[in-house]
Amino acid sequence: MNILTTRRISQVFFLILFLWFCLATTLGQRWFQLRGWPVNWIIQLDPLVGLGTLLTTRTLFAGLLWGLATVVLTILLGRFFCGWLCPFGTIHQFVGYLARRKRKIKVKMALNRYQPAQSIKYWILVFLLVMAVAALAADLTRLPRTTPAGFVILLILGLIAVIVMAVRQARLNTARATLAVGIIGSAWLLTSFLFYGDWRPAASLQIGLLDPIPLLYRSINLTLLPLLDHTALATAGSPRLYAGTWLIASLFVAAVLLNLIRPRFYCRFVCPLGALFGVLGRFAIWRIGKSRDECIDCHLCEKNCEGACQPTGQIRLAECVLCLNCIADCHHGLMGYHTAPSAGGEMVSPDLTRRELLTAAVSGAAAIPLLRIGGQPGPNWNPHLVRPPGSLPEDQFLSRCIKCGQCMRICPTNVIHPAGLTAGLEGLWTPVLNFRIGTSGCQHNCIACGNLCPTAAIRPISLTERRGLGPYAKQGPIKIGTAFIDRGRCLPWAMDRPCIVCQENCPVSPKAIFTREVFNDVRILQPLVVKSADNTRIEFQTDVLIAQQFATGDYYCAVPGRSDLQRHQIIANTSHSLTIDAKHPFDQPPAAQKRVSILIRLQQPYVDPALCIGCGVCEHECPVQGKRAIRVTAENESRSRKHALILS
Ligand code: SF4
Ligand code: SF4
Repeated sequence: MNILTTRRISQVFFLILFLWFCLATTLGQRWFQLRGWPVNWIIQLDPLVGLGTLLTTRTLFAGLLWGLATVVLTILLGRFFCGWLCPFGTIHQFVGYLARRKRKIKVKMALNRYQPAQSIKYWILVFLLVMAVAALAADLTRLPRTTPAGFVILLILGLIAVIVMAVRQARLNTARATLAVGIIGSAWLLTSFLFYGDWRPAASLQIGLLDPIPLLYRSINLTLLPLLDHTALATAGSPRLYAGTWLIASLFVAAVLLNLIRPRFYCRFVCPLGALFGVLGRFAIWRIGKSRDECIDCHLCEKNCEGACQPTGQIRLAECVLCLNCIADCHHGLMGYHTAPSAGGEMVSPDLTRRELLTAAVSGAAAIPLLRIGGQPGPNWNPHLVRPPGSLPEDQFLSRCIKCGQCMRICPTNVIHPAGLTAGLEGLWTPVLNFRIGTSGCQHNCIACGNLCPTAAIRPISLTERRGLGPYAKQGPIKIGTAFIDRGRCLPWAMDRPCIVCQENCPVSPKAIFTREVFNDVRILQPLVVKSADNTRIEFQTDVLIAQQFATGDYYCAVPGRSDLQRHQIIANTSHSLTIDAKHPFDQPPAAQKRVSILIRLQQPYVDPALCIGCGVCEHECPVQGKRAIRVTAENESRSRKHALILS
């Protein structure tokens, strides 16, 4: 089989596999939605996710070791991931192909010429990695204070390394090198004491914004599949929608449409994962290149070059995505894939000057303090940011979440949504609970999101832990927030309307919502003056009532001045009469000309913060539409002691 056909089959296979995994992520009844599919496998293959989380957390999750396999294969073969596997790359390649299909050969060649702006993706990579490494760098800065012995050992090792290098390379001056180590060590020591106290910038993992794999997961999960959910092709049991996905959809469509300007625009100019592969590609053992220097400069090899890596001249290996089109397009059979360097010459390193590298790194280092200057993950935390159960404390959460949207898609009640600015700019598109949307609140017997999250930003928990049973009985159930009643909107509190919906739906046992009974005077615009009365019926002098308005069983009649205990339940009414329940008749009917009043029996809800787990079922079910009369905020969430309510 032709190698190009093999490559196309591989691309189509991985694209279908990717879409399949997205479909399977939806919990449901269909056969393909059975659990057990390795739906995160393509994320795990992405070494930028592994590297990013390694830098921010200093741990590598077992699944992300797959990324190591991708790295090793890239070092052996070059950027095979971009040309053969990446589903986003396949979409770009296909759209780019459609866009230039009918263009003249010269135009195609011009479109595939290398552009210096292709180095932008390396700036982006450096910027994002420096943001991710900030906490590690800060810890290293503080090393002389926190671990003096470690600092001294590192300094001695550095000194020995310099001396060994100096001895082996006579050109290096031992005295100057030792002085340099001394200066670096002193600066380090000084910095350590300058940043005194608890100052410690946390890392921010923003690679998910632009890394093509989380980006594509997010776009398909939160925009394409919800569109399908409203058709006969629905994969979810009930149609889902996600708050604020217009931005995610717009960026996805823009990224795809940019291929009309240049093929693989995103891969060439933006993709940080491609940039990482470009850096690794310089070590590639097998590479594309000319086998003989007999080129007639026809430039045909550039006609369909997906990476714009100028194979005609000195090939830029960091840009080559291994599409292999040049091999097929060279009529003289000069292009090949081999271990020998290209006969036309090679440029192995990415096109990035030292100044550009430094600018990107400094911008990345400056970004975190700027993003956190408002203290959003710390003291200025946003109580509306209710995270899924099992979520890590906010700064750790931001160090892990890659904004892939997997938790949002698997949530069976559609209660997890991409955050807009609720979590600050840094937390854009991270998961936040929105109890107004979806089919219910966060289910007390569900642990799906934590078990799917590829980076353990939401850690996997068991049902026993979630519900605070067995060994977790002492710590109690996991709380994601607390419900608060808005007495200005609650029907029994503000509008004299009976309602116990929230109390009835509260899923914990004993219920976290309890009620207290009160009897309030019903506001009637005209006085109820008795014309005649017996033990179970009162006639009024005028037509003041609406027929059967007070026949629900919640209304009582009372004679002002008598004791509270003498309330008589109304079972029917006309416009000018009331009928009283015969089981509790008037001992002494009200006399003619006397006024009576009508009372309503209300059960006003209260929340017990010690029992409330913040599941939001009450908020979801509250009949006050729009801004609900009971709302959950993040107070008392288990993940942070600092968010505890004073009283609990
Ligand atoms: S928390 Fe949700 S969006 Fe973030 S990495 Fe985990 S699954 Fe993806
Ligand atoms: S459901 Fe809403 S309106 Fe009804 S009692 Fe609860 S908070 Fe009030």
